[in-house]
Amino acid sequence: AQLAGGGGFSVFQQSMLEKEERVQALLGAMDSASIEDEFTMVYQPICDLRSGRMHGVEALMRWQSPLFGAVSPAEFIPLAERSERITQLGALALRKVACDVAAMQAAGLLPPGFTAHINVSARQAMNVHFFEQVRDIALAAGLPPGLLTLELTESLLVDDAHHLRAQFRRLADFGFGLCLDDFGTGYSSLSTLHNFNFDCVKLDRSFIVRSTEEGRASAVLPAIVGIARSLKMSCVAEGVETPEQAAVLRAMGCEYVQGYLFARPMGLAPLQAWMADNARA
Ligand code: C2E
Ligand code: CA
Ligand code: CA
Ligand code: CA
Repeated sequence: AQLAGGGGFSVFQQSMLEKEERVQALLGAMDSASIEDEFTMVYQPICDLRSGRMHGVEALMRWQSPLFGAVSPAEFIPLAERSERITQLGALALRKVACDVAAMQAAGLLPPGFTAHINVSARQAMNVHFFEQVRDIALAAGLPPGLLTLELTESLLVDDAHHLRAQFRRLADFGFGLCLDDFGTGYSSLSTLHNFNFDCVKLDRSFIVRSTEEGRASAVLPAIVGIARSLKMSCVAEGVETPEQAAVLRAMGCEYVQGYLFARPMGLAPLQAWMADNARA
């Protein structure tokens, strides 16, 4: 009797059903969303680990649904990736970020070397017009391409590598930055990494968390940092929450950090206030 829910469903089946109902409802809400209003971008500073100065930002999407309230991108991005919705959301993110960064540049607010990272889904990058799309958005905003860095995950590198390599080469040749996100969690070989012209890798938070714990896992992080350095890629550690983690990363020669220890993701106005403080400090 404990396990039997209403209608003869077990608790497990019941919870699966509720999960699937939420998924369907979210997909529906995404379809009917007024995407320009409900989806916004927040920015999390990326700092130079030695000087503490801002190096750039990562743009992260937020969804404020009238029906569901705030929905995490960890939940809605994978759902959007099931269809062409992700291409639409990805284009929206690019437009908003290009516009925000161009405005900050025009106002003279950007430190030298600044670049804004933006997440790109595999499905979005696979689109045959992806290069033209990113280029046209940057041109329309009057944004120099170096101010934009595309973050891609390793899952992208496994299939149709030939098409993607050509696409990435065009992006890099045009001047966009390319960063491999969640480095070390996927399956790409070192030669693949080399072939794809990434100028930056992002160390996944799971490695950072383990770096200050005892045991074997702590040997992985210095190895990954070493690989990045020998391939002449810069290194951003993500999810740094404690001064101990920052110290460990500094000792390893990791250059850039992003995490709650330094700043949380925030809207454009708070970001500009944060930047003014950071430049003064
Ligand atoms: P990600 O690309 O790995 O982004 C880093 C995530 O770590 C962000 O979560 C960020 O808020 C969080 N984070 C940063 N510092 C810390 C820290 O010190 N501690 C902890 N616990 N977390 C930290 P968020 O914003 O919830 O995004 C989740 C994921 O959703 C992202 O992971 C990315 O895969 C995806 N995503 C977000 N925005 C976009 C977007 O515009 N396009 C695409 N395709 N994916 C996006
Ligand atoms: Ca990312
Ligand atoms: Ca990441
Ligand atoms: Ca991650």
